[in-house]
Amino acid sequence: MRQEDRVTYKPFNLQGKVALITGGNRGIGFGMAQALAQSGADVAIWGTSAARNEEAAAALAAEGVNAAAWRVDVSNEDEVMAAMADVASTMGRIDAVFANAGIGYGAPSFVDMDTAVYRKVMSVNLDGVFWTFREACRHMVSRAQAGDPGGSLVGVASLAAIEGAARNEAYAATKGAVISMIKSIAVEHARYGVRANAILPGWIATDMTANAQANPAFADKVLPRIPARRWGRPEDFGGVAVYLASDASAYHSGDLFVVDGGYAIF
Ligand code: NAD
Repeated sequence: MRQEDRVTYKPFNLQGKVALITGGNRGIGFGMAQALAQSGADVAIWGTSAARNEEAAAALAAEGVNAAAWRVDVSNEDEVMAAMADVASTMGRIDAVFANAGIGYGAPSFVDMDTAVYRKVMSVNLDGVFWTFREACRHMVSRAQAGDPGGSLVGVASLAAIEGAARNEAYAATKGAVISMIKSIAVEHARYGVRANAILPGWIATDMTANAQANPAFADKVLPRIPARRWGRPEDFGGVAVYLASDASAYHSGDLFVVDGGYAIF
């Protein structure tokens, strides 16, 4: 008997499931989308750049699944509502939603942070997640009421939600709020078979952290404080994404998944 024939536990096979990843055209979102596609899920991605969307969707379709992209600004309620309805009708259903789209900003200090920056980060990182999850829940609740319960909602928060992140007060507030929102959603929607969890990335090498990656002081001071002694990579989020989209996590809700190479406990 070949080794693979002896594997009978296969909950991580996502064939027949549809996953939506906001901000799925690059970075952590694309890392998750790629693993989900490689596990058999059909994938829908949202992003603001049409060119990046098309490139990412083509790479995901090359995994042999149905993959499509929508140009959506998650800080626009109408766009989120229209796109969620369109994904459900085009892809047939939505089983897992990863609210990953997010932005950072460079602020010299809290006292120098202006209101426009505060409003902008709130609109993408918090309003965007609220509308994405509300529309996802509307789909999942009505599907459950029609006799087909189930679903997984995943918010990409940040260690900034639970650790003091200097010069990041607005960003940290959005991520803390996302965690609180997820816990409420988890309790309210368990009766529909829907679970909700948060992922808290540590220091991950993406466009968002380009400045830190290029800063020698960061390499000297922060990298030695990461037990894994390296930056996280988008593909480090594949495993947790597949687990949360799969039936293996059917009884796992309201939890926080810290993916940081051990940074938070060191
Ligand atoms: P990234 O900049 O590489 O990717 C961000 C993605 O979000 C892109 O696909 C972009 O198109 C999309 N996006 C941005 N604004 C959008 C909008 N208004 N509407 C729709 N899509 C939008 O960043 P990343 O590092 O991959 O970040 C992904 C998530 O992880 C974010 O929520 C971020 O806050 C979080 N995070 C990142 C780190 C890190 O170290 N990189 C750490 C903690 C948390």
